[in-house]
Amino acid sequence: MAQQLQLPDGQTIAYLLDLRVRKTIGLKITAQGLVVHAPKRISSKQLQQVLLQKAGWIQQKLALRAANQVAPMQWVDGEPLLFMGQDITLSLIRHPTSKAVALEGSQLVVRSPHIGNQAWVARKVLHWYTQQALPDFSRRVQLVAAQMGEKVTSVALSNARSRWGSCNSRKQIRLNWRLIQAPPHIIQYVVCHEMAHLREMNHSGRFYAVLESLFAKHLSAEKEMKALSSILHRMA
Ligand SMILES: [Zn+2]
Repeated sequence: MAQQLQLPDGQTIAYLLDLRVRKTIGLKITAQGLVVHAPKRISSKQLQQVLLQKAGWIQQKLALRAANQVAPMQWVDGEPLLFMGQDITLSLIRHPTSKAVALEGSQLVVRSPHIGNQAWVARKVLHWYTQQALPDFSRRVQLVAAQMGEKVTSVALSNARSRWGSCNSRKQIRLNWRLIQAPPHIIQYVVCHEMAHLREMNHSGRFYAVLESLFAKHLSAEKEMKALSSILHRMA
C-alpha cells in the first residue's frame, strides 16, 4: 500500500509498504521508488521511527537512482538515438507514399504517412537497426574466426533482455542487436568475448587468456559495457 513519510524538514517521501511475516524492517529502492518490507505486527509509530532514522540513506539512494535514470524512448521527431557510438537524431518526415528509413548525416530519417504512429515508427526503426547489425557483426565474427583459425557455423541476432551474446558447442554465435548502438570497440569486445568461448566454454583463467589475445583491453571494455547497458536497453 502507498504511504507517505513526513520528514522533519517538511519534505515527504512516498513509499510502498509491504507487510509480511518477518522480524526486521527491510528497505529497497526499486524502479517504483522506496519499498518497505515490515513485520505484520509493527505499529505505525515504530515504523515511522525507523524510517526517520534511515531518512538520510533513503534520500541519498533515491537521488542516485533519479540521476542514473535513462529517459524512456519516445518515437517522435527529434528523439536522440545512438548508432555505433554516434549520437544521431530521429527525423520524422510526413510523406504520402514512402516508407523509407535512411541514415542521412547524423539524422535517421523516416519518411512515411504513418509518422504520427509511434508503434509503427518504433517497428520501422528497430528493423533498420537489426538490418545494420547483422552484416556488421557477421564481418567482425568472420575476421576474428580467421585470426583464430576457427570456424563458426552461424551468426544470428538475439533480442535477449540480459545477455549481449552467446556461443554454443555447435559454434553458433548470437549477438544482441542492441549492440549496434554501442561504439565499435565495444561491439568488437563482445564479439571477441563470444569467440573466445569457441576455445573455452567457461569464464576460467584459460578463457580470459584467449580473450586477452583477441582483445587486450577487455577489462576496461567490460566496465564501459556495464555503464552503457541501460542506455542500450532504452530501445525495447
Ligand atoms: Zn562469456
